Amino acid sequence: MRLLTQWLRWLGDVPAFRIYGKTRREADWRVIDVFATPRRNHDSPWPLWRGCCITWTAEVIAVGWDYAEALVREQAADPASRVQPVEVAGGRLGDARRRVSAGGEPWPSLSEILAHEVGHTGQTRRLWVGYLPVVGALTLFREGARWWNFFENQASEEGQFGGIVSGSVCPRLMERLREGPR
Ligand SMILES: [Zn+2]
Repeated sequence: MRLLTQWLRWLGDVPAFRIYGKTRREADWRVIDVFATPRRNHDSPWPLWRGCCITWTAEVIAVGWDYAEALVREQAADPASRVQPVEVAGGRLGDARRRVSAGGEPWPSLSEILAHEVGHTGQTRRLWVGYLPVVGALTLFREGARWWNFFENQASEEGQFGGIVSGSVCPRLMERLREGPR
């Protein structure tokens, strides 16, 4: 897992930004690198990579540049913190009824999606090397009531996003933010 993290760091060069993240069952916040790659933009030709973020290790999350940019904008308007972390409303990204009855919006914010991914980083710590093939395959099935939805549900129930680490937004992303919304 350490090797994989190092390889991803080399691949992604510098993280787009760093965040504080943990699961409900963890006491201490971890610093997680969020890498941006063009292959994860919405217009990517790679179908499974398109517009989604996938957790890789306990220390690394990979997203598209457009997601990274929109997330930083969302956080600038309504920042999360370790005192008031973002959690997935009702513990589900995709169940509008459950979300609304828990006081959330029907559709998840980008920060809630990141909280979900942080939930997966907690799973990688527990499952270790077995994580990638197991959750990688299961994650395609999304949340739900079946046994294979366990990892997705748990990620939504336990992930906490404690804000962007101050000063960690990389120069390239700062540049994109200065150019304004596109
Ligand atoms: Zn997931």
